[in-house]
Amino acid sequence: MMLLTGENLTKRFAGGSGTVDALNGINVQINTGEFVTVVGPSGSGKSTLLSIFGLLDVPSKGTVCLHDTDIEQYNHRERTRVRKETIGFVFQSYGLIPTLTALENVAVPRLLDSDPAATERRAKELLGKVGLSNRLKHYPDELSGGQKQRVSIARALVNEPALVLADEPTGNLDRDTGERVFKELLAVTGDDVTIVAVTHDEYLAEFSDRVLRLIDGRLKTSGTDTEIPVSEQTSETPTDGGVNH
Ligand code: ADP
Ligand code: MG
Repeated sequence: MMLLTGENLTKRFAGGSGTVDALNGINVQINTGEFVTVVGPSGSGKSTLLSIFGLLDVPSKGTVCLHDTDIEQYNHRERTRVRKETIGFVFQSYGLIPTLTALENVAVPRLLDSDPAATERRAKELLGKVGLSNRLKHYPDELSGGQKQRVSIARALVNEPALVLADEPTGNLDRDTGERVFKELLAVTGDDVTIVAVTHDEYLAEFSDRVLRLIDGRLKTSGTDTEIPVSEQTSETPTDGGVNH
């Protein structure tokens, strides 16, 4: 079953210093329960694609369908509601609120119509799943990078999203910690949950069902295929600026 499709996704940023074509006609379909990684050099459009999938930005041209609904049909308020109900986000820089405890941070996106006791139970359960039962009352600056990212993973899952979008979730972590956190993200996310993760780390892409390679806002093609299963990839990797965004 299809969860998310992008058709001819094009994004042009126009600013004082000229225009940038961040995405140049992306066609992609992502199935329910699939774990897809997006790799590519800095500036290739990975974050832009994720923002559009996350209903945080709109394409200049093209169509995004989520759950078979063209998201263009939603007004701003509906878009926000659909985003909260459907999508969890994990960012490289964690995005935790420094004045809130781990437990409070996880509860932040909880939908307003839910009951506070249930929210707390859910937040505790999720923090337990990521191994932080003994850090509930800790503030972000009392946590390691890996722990902060675990809190943000718990937060992303608090509304039981159908889709988790992670933009360089291991970008600020050392390799071992990054690999552990990445595996935990997969482990705590239910099999029916779809994950799209941008990563700079090619080796992490090997955990995914499918790799999307972006170069200059285009999916790198291999023959007629725009998407290359991991098993069919060669050792050749795209040139990479090596700068994390
Ligand atoms: P990546 O995540 O792969 O490093 P991005 O999606 O962040 O790439 O950026 C793709 C291109 O779009 C880059 O050239 C970047 O400078 C440009 N870009 C991204 N966001 C904006 C913006 N808000 N305004 C102008 N240009 C942008
Ligand atoms: Mg980026």
